[in-house]
Amino acid sequence: MKSNKQRRQEIKAQRLRRAERQLQIRHVNARPVDRPIGAEPVTPALLRSNNSYGIPDFVQRGYYQDRPFRCKDCGIEEIWTAAQQRWWYEVAQGDVWTVAVRCRRCRQQERARKDEARRIHGEGLAVKSMGRTHEDGSSTNG
Ligand SMILES: [Zn+2]
Repeated sequence: MKSNKQRRQEIKAQRLRRAERQLQIRHVNARPVDRPIGAEPVTPALLRSNNSYGIPDFVQRGYYQDRPFRCKDCGIEEIWTAAQQRWWYEVAQGDVWTVAVRCRRCRQQERARKDEARRIHGEGLAVKSMGRTHEDGSSTNG
């Protein structure tokens, strides 16, 4: 026969074990819930420093998440993915207040257009400097 004292101690121990188990469950649940699937963590140290007031949404949140947007050139809906955002801000050092405005296709076209403009500009400079060289050449060697 168990004494009342023993029974009380057993019950107490049981309650303690149950409380510990619940604490552990709560602890395990606490971590992964706050970042949705597909989101990318933000590393504030890698961001380009900015002098403006305020903290961008994604820094406050602590992660990047897929972000739908409408292309400003062709109007198509596209998703700026969490991984692309992380690359843009942390690798390419894009301004933390800038967001994607063009779809992939229009971005490629825009880049091609800029490259072409740069090439034409470069050729123009080359022609000018060739002209100068020719003038210099004719005055010194002629
Ligand atoms: Zn577009």
